[in-house]
Parts: sequence; C-alpha cells; structure tokens
Amino acid sequence: MLLAGAGLLRRMLKEKFGSAASLGPVMCACGKRMRSVGPRAKRLRTILGEIVFERPVFVCPACGARRSLADEMLGVEGRGFSPGLCRLMARAGQRDTFKEGRDDLRVFAEIAVTAKDVERVAEGAGEEVEAWQERERAQIEAGEKTVQSEEAPILYVCYDGTGVPMVPWETEGRKGKQPDGSSRTREAKLGCVFTQTTVSEKGYPVRDEASTTFVGAIESSGAFGQRIYHEALRRGLNAAQKTVVLADGAKYNWEIAALHFPRATEIVDLFHARGHLSQLCALLIPDDTQEKNILKERWEKMLDEGRLQSILTQACELMPRNGKRRNFILKELAYFQNNASRMRYDDFRAQGLFVGSGVVEAGCKTVVGKRLKQSGMEWTVRGANAIIALRCCHLSGRTEEFWEQVAA
Ligand SMILES: [Zn+2]
Repeated sequence: MLLAGAGLLRRMLKEKFGSAASLGPVMCACGKRMRSVGPRAKRLRTILGEIVFERPVFVCPACGARRSLADEMLGVEGRGFSPGLCRLMARAGQRDTFKEGRDDLRVFAEIAVTAKDVERVAEGAGEEVEAWQERERAQIEAGEKTVQSEEAPILYVCYDGTGVPMVPWETEGRKGKQPDGSSRTREAKLGCVFTQTTVSEKGYPVRDEASTTFVGAIESSGAFGQRIYHEALRRGLNAAQKTVVLADGAKYNWEIAALHFPRATEIVDLFHARGHLSQLCALLIPDDTQEKNILKERWEKMLDEGRLQSILTQACELMPRNGKRRNFILKELAYFQNNASRMRYDDFRAQGLFVGSGVVEAGCKTVVGKRLKQSGMEWTVRGANAIIALRCCHLSGRTEEFWEQVAA
C-alpha cells in the first residue's frame, strides 16, 4: 500500500512540475528572468517511502543564482525529507532520545531514518519554533498581535534553572562545581505560566485544566526575563486580577520579578525553602541525624505556620560562636532573612494560593530536564536550545499551531 502511495505521489509531482513552461516565468532575486536548465532529479523521503521525481531547475543568466520553484512550493528546498516526514521526525526527536525516536518511526510507520537524521530535523524544527515565537514576541511587543485575554483571576509565573551537560568547548573558562573548579554543565532556565480560577471545597488551590505553557533556553537571565514576560503577556497578564511569581530564592529570580512583574505576589517555592531548611539543620547539628531530623520536622511545621522569625531566633541560639561552620550557617540565615516576606506560607495559603510549584518541578525539571540529561548526552548550546524550544512547544500544546503556520 505504501509503495502504491509513493507511486501515486511521484505521478502527481510529475504532472504538476514536469514541464518548465507550466511554472510560468521564474524571476531571480536580482530582477532578471531565469532560464530553465532542464529537468533534474530530486530524491525525497516521505511518509510513503522514498521517491525520486524530476523537476525543472532555473539559473539566472546575470548572476548565476539557482532556483527550483517546485522545491520552494513543496517546502523541501535543500532538504531530503518531505514536510510530513519532518513533522513526524520532529515529534519523535523531542521524545526521550534520538535513537528512541528513530525506533518509534520504524515501528509506527515503517520509516527508516538514522538517529542523526532525527537529530538534525528535530533541531532544525526547534530553531524554526524559536524563530516563530520570536516573531510572535515582537508582534505582542508592538501591539500588532492581540494577546489572549483568558478571564483568569490568578496568573502564576514560575521559573527555575537546571544544569544541562555540555560538550567541553561550551563550558571552557566557566566556573563550576567540578573538583578543579571547572564546569561540565550550563544552566537552562525554564519557566511556566498557568492559571487558577477556584479553590477546592477544602480551600486548596485548583490549577485550571490544560492551562500550563512552558518556555525555556540556555541564556542570560536578562534574556530569559524577557522570554517569560512575553509568555505571561501572551497568556493574559494584563487581564489577570492577580499575578503570582513562584521561584527559588536566588537573587536574579527576584530581579526578573521586580523588573517585569512589579505588582506580583512574590512567593519562594516551598520545596526550595524546605531544601534550605534541611541544609540549615544539617549545618547546625552535623553529627546527630536523629536529632537533626526532629529539628527539621519541627521547623518545617513552623515554616508552614508562617513562624519564620522564631526559626531564625532558635537557629541563632544553636549556632557555634566561631569557625567555618558558622559562616555557612550565616549564609543560610541570610537566605531566609532576604526572602522572609516571600515565605509567609500561612498567609498565602489563607488566600488560596499555590505555594509550591510542583508544576515547574514536574514540567521543567523532569520533563524538559530529563530529555537533556539522559546518560552520556553532551549538548551544544544551539542543539540544547532547539530541543528545549521544541519540547516546550509540545508541552504547551502548540505543536499543531506551529506546523499550521509553517504550512501556510
Ligand atoms: Zn540573478
């Protein structure tokens, strides 16, 4: 059946593109009329299998430029895969590994391509996704594109970073956590936007179904701030009655919030806060695990109740008067002091707000991060960003929208 389909496709292409005359006059970018140099064979891999068809190629007598109008119309300039197959390969390529993508294509559709093919096509598609969204951001910025104004009372903006293993030259000269002070990873910044309309009967916040969209890239925090801001804008930032920024306590996170979301309620993600609390307990009681755990449990409860100041007072009493450990403890205490207003968990809960971004954890760290952190993987910034763009687009439910505008 596939062979028959491929045969049919070849005949259709021959009919449409068989003669140079049927294409009408072909003009060069330089303004001259181009001359046909006769039919040339093109090998194309499609969902139906490989086909070879002939189409006229034109050359400019003035500047020597070449054009194949047929390739342009079919969307296969300079590539050996049909748009339909590219679409499948891009989808396969954002799954766990390129090899798995290759195997899926073979099993699902009898399509024989290499893992490298899947990688190239997926990265190409990812770059196109990024370019598409960049155009969209520019349009939103210029007010040419109206933003979706979903009537969502509460809009959440969450972001976090995760390390992506890189090829050696991408981390040259960068400081990191390796024993010799070098780095093997670069931080990918990942963010999501979702909305909340109601709370459950028990007063717990409820995330609007299918309301989460994702963005991300390995880039400066300034560039990422713009990216997450535009995503929030697209999702109806201006129509929201309340905006909540959920992030880790790191300084640059709140610089982004202050710049782009000045009216937002700022909340330090509870899971990050608990992580620091655990760290603090370990520093205060380094040699008694049981005692440490009892303290940690007690303080976690106090943190939930909004009694951060009492925790800090108790911590000061437990702190050694001098030594190296004291400095580490002071650092942790500063983290809590600097973020105290963002850790009023009792207050935030009473308002029916989310205080932990399980969404970022689940969406970004596991789903996006996992794709980039399979064992043995090493990325270039360009390759990683392309796959992040592709995967975020997929998770945001915008893949079809992307391909529709490509086809258009
Ligand atoms: Zn020319």
